[in-house]
Amino acid sequence: MSVPPPARVGDSVAEIDTPALVIDLDAFERNLDRMARFAHDTGIRVRPHAKTHKSPSVAHAQIARGAVGQCCQKVAEAEVLVHAGIHNVLVSNQVVGAAKVARLAALARHAWIGVCADDPAQVRAYGEAARRAQVDLHVLVEIDVGAARCGVAPGDAAVELAKLIADTPGLSFEGLQAYHGSAQHIRGHRERRAAILTAAQAVQLTGEKMGAAGLDCRTIGGAGTGSFRFETETGLWNELQPGSYCFMDADYGRNLDEEGKEKGEFENALFVASTVMSAVAPGRAVVDAGHKASAIDSGLPTVWRRPDVEYAGAADEHGKLSLGAKAAKPALGDRVWLVPGHVDPTVNLHDWYVGVRGGLEDGVVECLWPVAARGAMT
Ligand code: PLP
Ligand code: MN
Repeated sequence: MSVPPPARVGDSVAEIDTPALVIDLDAFERNLDRMARFAHDTGIRVRPHAKTHKSPSVAHAQIARGAVGQCCQKVAEAEVLVHAGIHNVLVSNQVVGAAKVARLAALARHAWIGVCADDPAQVRAYGEAARRAQVDLHVLVEIDVGAARCGVAPGDAAVELAKLIADTPGLSFEGLQAYHGSAQHIRGHRERRAAILTAAQAVQLTGEKMGAAGLDCRTIGGAGTGSFRFETETGLWNELQPGSYCFMDADYGRNLDEEGKEKGEFENALFVASTVMSAVAPGRAVVDAGHKASAIDSGLPTVWRRPDVEYAGAADEHGKLSLGAKAAKPALGDRVWLVPGHVDPTVNLHDWYVGVRGGLEDGVVECLWPVAARGAMT
């Protein structure tokens, strides 16, 4: 059984049933335009990350503005993207297991497919699958630039792996994956930049050693919404992978800019629409969006443009609002707009995006986009 969308095209905002995942299309498009302008002005390639949006509709909007393709983390996400006509997809991750690798190779019959490796056994598995499917897989060596997640050590270990890729029929060596995940939410601007400049030393060293070994890094990829300006500034990376910028979230909103202000350069464009379902207790109200509607791994959602109201606690299906002393008390049935703490896992909780044109106050539903890769985990 498929879940029906919580609104119809042409509905007023007030008619959207809740909880619902709502895109403010005007803010969303301004975010896409801002990143496209940055890419144009600096000459860098942008390959936005579909782990955030899981939606071919969003991907097409990014590619229409000059993005070179998409990143994703999972083969199942890549399948959704390729089947929706996106012909340039990098799985910015390790793909492990014969069945998954075979699916990845099968996709390469229909699209340019890149993938990462940090282990010789993995390179061999990619090679076997590519030869069996008679395709070419583009493999990036992932190096650990400070996040202590996946990736070989920068330098000689990366060169060894790159040689193996280059020597493996069915594979072509594409370059380096150098993503610094743990730097993205370092709050201080100076400290965040310093983390990327340290990562840049690892990239530079590895790039030089690759060059000395006669290996050409066509792509040096990495960067997220919190850091992409810094990777660009170094001149070392040539492809950016920001995901969250298209929607923003409360956690990214807490990153500080150069002046120490909590003002993200992108606008909040994704909201969880909720409804007050209980307002009997003094100083408190309860909305119908708990942590099954808005992910709380990076902090609770915040209440949009209501600094006097705090989202103070999430249960499965209940969100508890704590009202400031002078706050006007929301009434039963009132609409409350929540800004998710973390967009990526929030999107994965919903089947539909409701796209609204003309603002959250009196806009109109313009589109309903399926979260097509929702739950695409394999
Ligand atoms: N690249 C990789 C490999 C990632 O894992 C992520 C997010 O975790 C991103 C890019 C995009 O990050 P963000 O959503 O913070 O822009
Ligand atoms: Mn994220």
